[in-house]
Amino acid sequence: MASPGLAPLARRVSLCRVCFETPRGRPLPHEPRPVARLSETARLCIAGQAPGTRVHASGAPFTDPSGDRLRHWLGIGDDVFYDVSRVAIVPMGLCFPGLDAKGGDLPPRPECRATWHDSLFAAMPQLKLVLVIGRYAQAYHLPHLKGAGLTEIVGNWRSILSESEERAGPAYLPLPHPSWRNNTWLRRNPWFEDELVPELRRRVAQLLQP
Ligand code: SF4
Repeated sequence: MASPGLAPLARRVSLCRVCFETPRGRPLPHEPRPVARLSETARLCIAGQAPGTRVHASGAPFTDPSGDRLRHWLGIGDDVFYDVSRVAIVPMGLCFPGLDAKGGDLPPRPECRATWHDSLFAAMPQLKLVLVIGRYAQAYHLPHLKGAGLTEIVGNWRSILSESEERAGPAYLPLPHPSWRNNTWLRRNPWFEDELVPELRRRVAQLLQP
């Protein structure tokens, strides 16, 4: 549920059928089911990629092993993670985009970013920290880093964080996607768990204080 000021926008999002009825290219292969947590009070926002099959079925974001790992990184449990008054969740594709020929998730639908994201983030000016998860969210929230790879972007987390703190609006902290697909990346970059995750937990705990 969105807070009152966001209600009209949240309602329009919940009824969105752009990718089904007027798509760019092939239509969404199923009925749209936008999955987001919009909030006028949350100071923390998780900006992810798009729902997968399990989230499409559940209608709740990160109800999968990726979510378990993300909550571990954040140092919070389900009760806090799903408290929309404290945590907003806005993936780059609000609906499950479907599967490719190899059974992998398709990229987030570009219609979503073009239709909704500027309005959604403009309607949540209270956000203090946006966790920018994966390359699609990084391309939107950190456009000045266009062309940089995951290791370069996440490896520069300190400067990205401090530079964004000097500007108006929320601070940005880039993260890899918590999917098992990044297990090799995580093994090769132990600084992520050793240095970034403790700072992430510290900031999240501070933001989530009443
Ligand atoms: S993915 Fe986004 S633009 Fe496409 S139908 Fe869902 S909410 Fe609408």
